[in-house]
Amino acid sequence: MAKIAFIGLGHMGGGMAPNLAAAGHEVRAFDLSEAALSAAEEKGCVRVGSTEEAVRDAEVVVTMLPAAQHVLGVYRQEVLGKAPPTALLIDCSTIDVESARTIEEEAAARGYTMVDAPVSGGIAAAASGNLTFMVGGSDEAFDRAKPFIEPMAKAVIHAGAAGAGQAAKICNNMILGATMAATCEAFVLAQKLGLDPQVFFDISSKASGQSWSMTSYAPMPGVGPDTPADHDYEGGFAAALMLKDLKLAADAARSVGAYTPMGGEAEELYQRFVDRGGGNKDFSGIIKMIDDSWKVPEGQ
Ligand code: NAD
Repeated sequence: MAKIAFIGLGHMGGGMAPNLAAAGHEVRAFDLSEAALSAAEEKGCVRVGSTEEAVRDAEVVVTMLPAAQHVLGVYRQEVLGKAPPTALLIDCSTIDVESARTIEEEAAARGYTMVDAPVSGGIAAAASGNLTFMVGGSDEAFDRAKPFIEPMAKAVIHAGAAGAGQAAKICNNMILGATMAATCEAFVLAQKLGLDPQVFFDISSKASGQSWSMTSYAPMPGVGPDTPADHDYEGGFAAALMLKDLKLAADAARSVGAYTPMGGEAEELYQRFVDRGGGNKDFSGIIKMIDDSWKVPEGQ
């Protein structure tokens, strides 16, 4: 069993770190938030006072931070040169491909093995150890990282070289943003055409309109499995994070000259939703704005 430093105990990391502790590892956990630290301690992690203290004699370092600036800052100032060079570094945050490659190069230059390992699945999947991990790094790095990721995962997939995990994550979430927007539009239209939402769900979830957004995450209250729609769009995956991922996709598309009009349209919709105060709502809450947009014309 290994000494694992776990940095970032928020919505996702707060669920993931205890699964590593439950697998028998010594998990030295750190977050800037006192409340997050206490919650992790209650769930079997060892609370420490700083990232430097967490990584000092770590065999593995796992990070689950909000965005690229946090990842670059934490690795440059508190992990590289502070953790033993034999430590394996696993960043699970969702960040842009270029930053992931940059930090992996900086880590390699100092003798570390590092992978980008972003996840798909929400807070519930993080807590229950059912996330899907998409891993970027060499074959050797992937083989080293896999056993440490497994207690947090339902699937661990090697996406390719450094940055490939982030590329897969960004592309996946571009599909998610676009299908959720389309699913919301369809529910609103179906209702206006006089269809019962439950009947529309029963049909579309078994027809060619089927997608994860429809079947597993239906945005209409009272329809399909229990989802944030049934809890006034609280919890789940924040619209602000979806917007962040769609912006990452747009930047990535620009950097390689790829044409992504549906991703661009979804980004615009989520930007409007966040501007109207929906950033902390679940991303399926966009259905309300889509419905209201018809009733309240733009600019009023
Ligand atoms: P979060 O904001 O809840 O958690 C991030 C944590 O990092 C916070 O507790 C914060 O205090 C801590 N932190 C920030 N800077 C720090 C520092 N310098 N040192 C130590 N701790 C620091 O975010 P989250 O929802 O857990 O998401 C984390 C990452 O996972 C993001 O990149 C997000 O895009 C991605 N993600 C989230 C979901 C989801 O459903 N929430 C799903 C898939 C992927």
